[in-house]
Amino acid sequence: MGGSEQKYIKEAFDTNWVVPLGPNVNGFEDDLKHYLGGEHSVVALSAGTAALHLALVQLGVGYGDEVICQSFTFAASANPITYLGGKPIFVDSEADTWNMSPYHLQEAIKDRIAKTGKKPKAIIPVHLYGMPAKMDEIMEIANRYEIPVIEDAAEALGSEFDGVKCGTFGTFGILSFNGNKIITTSGGGALVCSTQEQARKTMFLATQARDNAPHYQHSEIGFNYRMSNICAGIGRGQAEVLSLRVARRREINEIYRKAFAEIKGITLQSEPNEKYFSNYWLTSITVNPAETDGITREDLRLACDAGNIETRPLWKPMHLQPVFANAPFYGDGTSEKLFNDGLCLPAGSILTNEQINRVIEVIRQTIGQ
Ligand SMILES: *Cc1c(COP(=O)(O)O)cnc(C)c1O
Repeated sequence: MGGSEQKYIKEAFDTNWVVPLGPNVNGFEDDLKHYLGGEHSVVALSAGTAALHLALVQLGVGYGDEVICQSFTFAASANPITYLGGKPIFVDSEADTWNMSPYHLQEAIKDRIAKTGKKPKAIIPVHLYGMPAKMDEIMEIANRYEIPVIEDAAEALGSEFDGVKCGTFGTFGILSFNGNKIITTSGGGALVCSTQEQARKTMFLATQARDNAPHYQHSEIGFNYRMSNICAGIGRGQAEVLSLRVARRREINEIYRKAFAEIKGITLQSEPNEKYFSNYWLTSITVNPAETDGITREDLRLACDAGNIETRPLWKPMHLQPVFANAPFYGDGTSEKLFNDGLCLPAGSILTNEQINRVIEVIRQTIGQ
């Protein structure tokens, strides 16, 4: 926590705004709007997953519609497609950013049009671990085929591509404030909208789609997805320290980066050039056993575990998940290789430099360099 979260929560209690609307919700949305550059309307919701769901609803995704999604991601990027009866079409990553491959995106679009006679309804690229996807190429392809983009920026609040904040490139962008993200509201999310009309519609859908009438009247199916004024109070406190959190995550990344520069066989997820600015929500590495005397990512994970250090393999791609076994996939094995060789290291902003150095020491000793 940053320090002032409880002040905002106390205000909510003192004024009896203990509901899913109120001054903290409006305040947090304003904070986010400003942070993202001021040109987008932000609607605070109960989760990032809810934000994705409402974006897909507004793009008209329905039964049998195809939606292209980055395969290398957390299941929450793809699940909402199926809530609507849609069909996820998974696209592989490229090696520079670990995110959606523009080449395979284009192949997928061409092939789906050839096979079904219809364009996919949306494209969901993800900025994994905070690293911006190749948004120039992805937007060029999306615009050429006139397919809307929903940017999954759940892990990338504070990241930028070419000076523009992640979450603001697409027709919609989604943010998450789950407990593990760079800032948190305990649980929560937001939909970044490119028009005020979308924002109005999002609020309408998120609050049970009530028509304008004195009684309860509904002409559309609604959802109960609005953020609580208590959670938004946490969010307002967190918004005050967001820049500090980004700075600290980048500092942590730099400490690992310096240390691993001297160890052969370890490669960090890295900004490909100066257009990319990652919040480095997580510091992630791949391990090449050919250069580490056969030490694998799993050896490192188990050695860390024995030292009471929690690490995790990278996301298991969606096209390899049992639940999506029948979904079409376009790729060349890049994300599968990242999954096999990759590891997320401890990177929380409360870690001390001593704790990070202990992680580095365990890795150094296990590899024996
Ligand atoms: C966390 C996360 C989500 C979902 O956000 P919730 O707020 O937990 O629903 C979606 N996509 C990615 C890539 C995430 O990491």
